[in-house]
Amino acid sequence: MSQSLVIAIDGPSGSGKSTTARMLAGELHLAYLDTGAMYRAVAWEYLRTGGVADDTEAVVQLTRDADIRISTHPDAPLVRINGQDVTSAIREPQVSASVSLVATNTDVRRILTKRMRETIAAHNHRIVVEGRDITTVVAPDADVRILLVADPAARVARRAAELGEQVDPGSVTDQVIRRDRDDSTVSNFTDATEGVVVIDSTFQPPAQVVEQILRLVETLPGNP
Ligand code: C5P
Repeated sequence: MSQSLVIAIDGPSGSGKSTTARMLAGELHLAYLDTGAMYRAVAWEYLRTGGVADDTEAVVQLTRDADIRISTHPDAPLVRINGQDVTSAIREPQVSASVSLVATNTDVRRILTKRMRETIAAHNHRIVVEGRDITTVVAPDADVRILLVADPAARVARRAAELGEQVDPGSVTDQVIRRDRDDSTVSNFTDATEGVVVIDSTFQPPAQVVEQILRLVETLPGNP
């Protein structure tokens, strides 16, 4: 069996971590886990069931019971929760606007963190995992740990380009800046802890960021 290779990538919204992580997984023939999609799926289900902002017990129970299936193929995203295909729906602005509410619940985080670790183990620790607390909480022992950052203006512009013309600028700023502020109350994805390599993607295309990470992988002990 091949040796384990876990690559953990954290960063704020719009830093380019999903694109980078998917490209990297494809290049190295590794599995890929988008942990944000798990939080988004729970937020989608919570909204669907009419969840209200302060009902913390309901969101914890929902998370505990949720059957979340997430594709770990880098080129074939698929997210299901309780049998429902939510691959596109979890990218809708209502979900982006509410996901921090779910993600700032520490019990929800504990439940999802356990499932993330199970997914890493199920892939024999050959996986690229991206999120907000992968380098610090989910997989602090990953072989390569990256914090991907970018200037706020670049991140807002990228998100706006992804969402297209129908979205108003205030909503995009909310989805990037306000969401990061709320998320950073529970995860530190702005300062790198020891052993985490910071890469600034403001002026670099994803392929260049991937190159830098591949060079780090090449320096790992046991690599040809
Ligand atoms: O990466 P993405 O923007 O899809 O993440 C959606 C949300 O999921 C984040 O805004 C954050 O609230 C939450 N999240 C998290 N921890 C992770 C990944 C995502 O709290 N490891």
